[in-house]
Amino acid sequence: MRTQDRVPAYGGGWLDRAAARRTDADWLAERLTDPASVVLPLWRDRCLADGDGPVRLTGERASAVRAAAGETVFLGLDGDAAVFAADLSALGERAAVEAAAATRAVDLRALAGRLDPAGAAVQAYARGLLSWHRQQRYCGACGAAAVAGGGGHVRTCAGAGCGRLLFPRIEPAVIVLVEAPGPPGRCLLARHAGAAEGAYSTLAGFVEVGESLEDAVHRELAEEAGVTVTDVTYQGSQAWPFPAGLMVAFRAVATSEHVRVDGVELLEARWFTRAELRERIASGRSLGRVDSIDHLLLGDWLSGDAPARPSAVW
Ligand SMILES: [Zn+2]
Repeated sequence: MRTQDRVPAYGGGWLDRAAARRTDADWLAERLTDPASVVLPLWRDRCLADGDGPVRLTGERASAVRAAAGETVFLGLDGDAAVFAADLSALGERAAVEAAAATRAVDLRALAGRLDPAGAAVQAYARGLLSWHRQQRYCGACGAAAVAGGGGHVRTCAGAGCGRLLFPRIEPAVIVLVEAPGPPGRCLLARHAGAAEGAYSTLAGFVEVGESLEDAVHRELAEEAGVTVTDVTYQGSQAWPFPAGLMVAFRAVATSEHVRVDGVELLEARWFTRAELRERIASGRSLGRVDSIDHLLLGDWLSGDAPARPSAVW
């Protein structure tokens, strides 16, 4: 049973994405002029917000923003209302803020924990999709311009004889909570290159071409920490469109307590008991970013809960 309090930030399927409508040009054109339709303005990966959070525009203000926007994409339906995102990145910051009747441009992650889950998820979706449009203006095969279509969910190369379809890219990464092979119960946390002294988190890495998710788990742990694991179990996933990530979370059990960090991506890795983690929390250290699936992985383990969504074992 899927419960919203178990859904990591930026997910949840709050909007009906209404994918079948994306190719209905007449319907989209009508929605764009419908005064009930909602437009979310963004500026260079930032929300445009006022004192209440990211602004949602309707009516004449929405029309004015669309006219000034470089790209407007259809996100889906919120009840009967169509929801669009409009990219004001071509404007200067002040002009974008004024056009949106906002008071500031702010990074979505800076608002973590202060937005309602649905609002945060839709903003993340908008940010990721608009970011992709700005990065995919040209065809990578022939270099011709690529034109947005399908409500903003595809770009088509306009080059003669090419016509390649370009879809938003998603970059999957695995994130793993590794448990010790025997008692007492411990988990492996590491200090990553660039992290502050004493800042530990679970191990993670990008999936490479030609790898399954579980292949990536085994390779990353071996490469970065010299750890081999068994009992790899899926825990959940998190959209992380900053700009294009998808975090796929696992638990695994080490076959040995021996750890050997690579000294490049990981500076240090060590085993923590639940008591040690509780002491760290009591001393004011958080368990990862509050909006990250890392936080949920550690929270579940700390509470001794069974995995939230146990599934196949590899
Ligand atoms: Zn092309």
